[in-house]
Amino acid sequence: MRKYIVAGNWKMNNDINESKALINELVAAVNSKTLTNTRVVVAPTFVNLVNVQELAKDSAVEVAAQNMHQAKSGAFTGEISAEMLTSIGLKSVILGHSERREYFGETDALLAEKVTTALANNLEVIFCFGEVLEDRKSENHFKVVASQIKNGIFHLDASAWSNIVLAYEPVWAIGTGETASPEQAQDMHAFIRGLVKEQYGNDVAENVSILYGGSVKPANAKEIFSKNDVDGGLIGGAALNASDFSAIIDATL
Ligand code: PEP
Repeated sequence: MRKYIVAGNWKMNNDINESKALINELVAAVNSKTLTNTRVVVAPTFVNLVNVQELAKDSAVEVAAQNMHQAKSGAFTGEISAEMLTSIGLKSVILGHSERREYFGETDALLAEKVTTALANNLEVIFCFGEVLEDRKSENHFKVVASQIKNGIFHLDASAWSNIVLAYEPVWAIGTGETASPEQAQDMHAFIRGLVKEQYGNDVAENVSILYGGSVKPANAKEIFSKNDVDGGLIGGAALNASDFSAIIDATL
């Protein structure tokens, strides 16, 4: 059965001291909860991964990377490989975040390569996608999302899907304070699960967690997560505050 996942993307925030303080607070909060069907994940910046992981190691908080390069190794100045991530004990990586697509030119084809490399290294992939405002206004959002998913991850075998988490993040709702309504999220998530079912069958579709991302806060999390096909959230701004993030985790319990 699929699980709820609440994943915090810290983006390019928090120096080492702030990262340590945030993970310590979060671990304390998570330790006081009973998480039967919920996973909690945080994704700090690369330089803080080891320290955050060390502080989270005896807790239920998992640590993920925000990105990685598609090549095994070599002359790619400034980049980080999948093997480097697994060598520090990481198990998950976020790929395809809209900020990577928009500011760093990451295309569906590049992301397909990154996904393949991550899975070949036994990393779970939290695969992000979502339409921009113009796509929604022109009612092209289903078409855009379908093409991002097909081009980014439908090259995989069904067996690879146990290591895939999907994150639908409408770009117009990220960091804007504007959230998709619970109904808009459910409509899109049901559509996504339908696509996966068409391609891979019912078992894969029913077992994959589909997260919603875009201005999720303690005040709206419960209503969004209560929808049938919404299996938790990818959280940006609210993940930088331990009590807000903790309250969002509570919305899955
Ligand atoms: C994100 O960047 O993945 C995100 C959902 O950000 P926010 O929660 O701040 O909208």
